[in-house]
Amino acid sequence: MSKVIIGLTGGIGSGKTTVANLFAEYGVDIIDADIVARQIVQPGQPALQHIAAHFGEDYILADGKLNRAKLREKVFANPDDKAWLNGLLHPLIRQTMNEQCQNAKSPYCFLVAPLLIENGINRSVDNVLVIDVKPETQIARTVARDNNSKEQVKRIIAAQVGREERLIHADFVINNDKATMEELRMQVEILHRKFLKMVTEDV
Ligand code: ADP
Repeated sequence: MSKVIIGLTGGIGSGKTTVANLFAEYGVDIIDADIVARQIVQPGQPALQHIAAHFGEDYILADGKLNRAKLREKVFANPDDKAWLNGLLHPLIRQTMNEQCQNAKSPYCFLVAPLLIENGINRSVDNVLVIDVKPETQIARTVARDNNSKEQVKRIIAAQVGREERLIHADFVINNDKATMEELRMQVEILHRKFLKMVTEDV
């Protein structure tokens, strides 16, 4: 088990995935909340059966997978349904992330979560690394990556915790505004050394 769990967060398009991939090159285990959220509703998983029992079999596609679009529409239109679904999924996501953290083998590991602070996950990690960028950078990079409109991205940013608030919770910060990929790589290398030192000194 990793001795230290570092929460990695930042707004949409800040560079969480990019940074996590750079740390992974050093063999650091990455637990990603978004991936876990998809794993727990795969065919054969109990959560999928609960969803079908609650909302109906027509929420399962012919290939046995969850009909995400239909479910998204359903919970968007109905707050009670959304609350039920969150009540089912959130504890399962937490539990699965905890298990994956416990199984991590690298000296320290990352728990990547866009809503680390919003969902209070920052309280169950040892340190928090924030990827900080200006909203303009977030918008430009997300629009280029996802083909979303500026307005869609602005709405997502507005629903997330603000930049200042996120930074209050940060133990470490990567500024990814002007950094080239090479500079980002260097920031990651410096932090990786720091984290390894932190783990070996923390005995
Ligand atoms: P997140 O996971 O936080 O949503 P990503 O890691 O996917 O963000 O980054 C958003 C987009 O910005 C991606 O297309 C990524 O390749 C690009 N990107 C990230 N960091 C940089 C950078 N320093 N310079 C240029 N593009 C970047």
